Amino acid sequence: MKKIIFLLTFVISSHLWASNHSLDSTIDKHQSEFENVAMTIWDLAEVGYQEYESSKLLQNSLKDHGFRIQTNVADIPTAFIAEYGSGSPVIAILGEFDALPGVAQSASPFKEPYKDNQAGHACGHHLFGAGSAWSSVVIKDWMKANNIKGTIRFYGTPAEEGGSGKVYMTRAGLFNDVDVALHWHPGSVSHARPRTSNSNKSARFTFDGISAHAAAAPEQGRSALDGVESMNMMVNLMREHIPQESRIHYVITKGGQAPNVIPDEAQVYYYVRHPKREIVGELFERVVKAAEGAAMGTGTTVSYEVMHGNFPLMPNDTLQRIMHDKLTKRGGIKYSSTETEYAKQIHQTFLNPTAKIGDQENILSYKATHGYGSTDVGDVSWLVPTGGARIASWVPGTSAHSWQAVASGGTTIGLKGTKLAVQVLSETAQEIYLDPKIAHRAKEELLINVGEDFEYVPLLGDREPPLDYRN
Ligand SMILES: [Zn+2]
Ligand SMILES: [Zn+2]
Repeated sequence: MKKIIFLLTFVISSHLWASNHSLDSTIDKHQSEFENVAMTIWDLAEVGYQEYESSKLLQNSLKDHGFRIQTNVADIPTAFIAEYGSGSPVIAILGEFDALPGVAQSASPFKEPYKDNQAGHACGHHLFGAGSAWSSVVIKDWMKANNIKGTIRFYGTPAEEGGSGKVYMTRAGLFNDVDVALHWHPGSVSHARPRTSNSNKSARFTFDGISAHAAAAPEQGRSALDGVESMNMMVNLMREHIPQESRIHYVITKGGQAPNVIPDEAQVYYYVRHPKREIVGELFERVVKAAEGAAMGTGTTVSYEVMHGNFPLMPNDTLQRIMHDKLTKRGGIKYSSTETEYAKQIHQTFLNPTAKIGDQENILSYKATHGYGSTDVGDVSWLVPTGGARIASWVPGTSAHSWQAVASGGTTIGLKGTKLAVQVLSETAQEIYLDPKIAHRAKEELLINVGEDFEYVPLLGDREPPLDYRN
């Protein structure tokens, strides 16, 4: 009997030892491969639904590592699923790879264009996609070596920025059999807090008028730009009478081409956000009313197209606590002297930095917080228990969607953050495979949080993916 117990203890401890040990060496083994993937995607800087080469690169890497690839999912050419293993638990690792228009930037610490690029990875999705794929391969290698039961899936999710790629994938039922979803995002500091985000909804409002000579026959024209300006005026007045936590922003995407031609077409692109999706719906209807009023008053007509819509993030404490534990044990990021010098130069360019150099070495405490941005991970998180981490991959104090984020995301500062993310994602998944009860607890928690009556209705309705929204 003693011998059996001894043997059993030996088997269990050697198994655990082998698993922890093998993760680190496997992470190192694939490092240069996936760092190259990240930097190639950074270089390509492809915008939403046009990420053909970035998507293909990730698909090929995963295919080479023995994943089964399903392409063109949810009727989106750049969306895909890469899968290894079978049965439950099914763990999904989310990966993004779209860039943002208008923020092309080199990796230097001063504002500088990059090649002929028009877009840049100002949200670090090149690191997000490559890191998540890297982690999926690490987990697969570990599952294979240790005969672990279950499925690992990498979800290649395009057009996070304003395209809601994941919402279409969720609506198509691609997450229906998933037990746990994990994700991460580059940031200026590191944490795995249970964080909520704003829900959002966007639309393009197109005004149609009548063109005429602006000086010789103005009475024969009706300016579509007047429609846009009147709408903006009303929405800007509306700001005083909306809930405090709301965010509304717009850009004029068409405003005419020459002052002496009364524009017969003008367009404004709006985002509406609030922590609660019901309030986003109400605010959106008020913005539509402003558009209709503007058209009536200016003698123009207006139509609108809903472009995207995301649920707020539903945090999952069960999963966040595990991720926080893994992240805290690993600790923060250490810069080399060259990286510190680079970081100092970038830091000088900030208007209102919320973090200082050195903060990348810390992991923030565990507490519930709210982020005012939005993400299409939100929709996934209402249907599948979802855990996420934010990892310092930019100079502390960097705002997402800035040239500084593109710059440091193209250096070893970005890559160091990515490696930490891979460690946290892989170890979290490993723990769930070894103890599937975690997935059950996370699911129970989710069911309580969403409530019994919850029925998933996407904010973007039944529209098709706007594959040309960045044209
Ligand atoms: Zn972003
Ligand atoms: Zn992002």
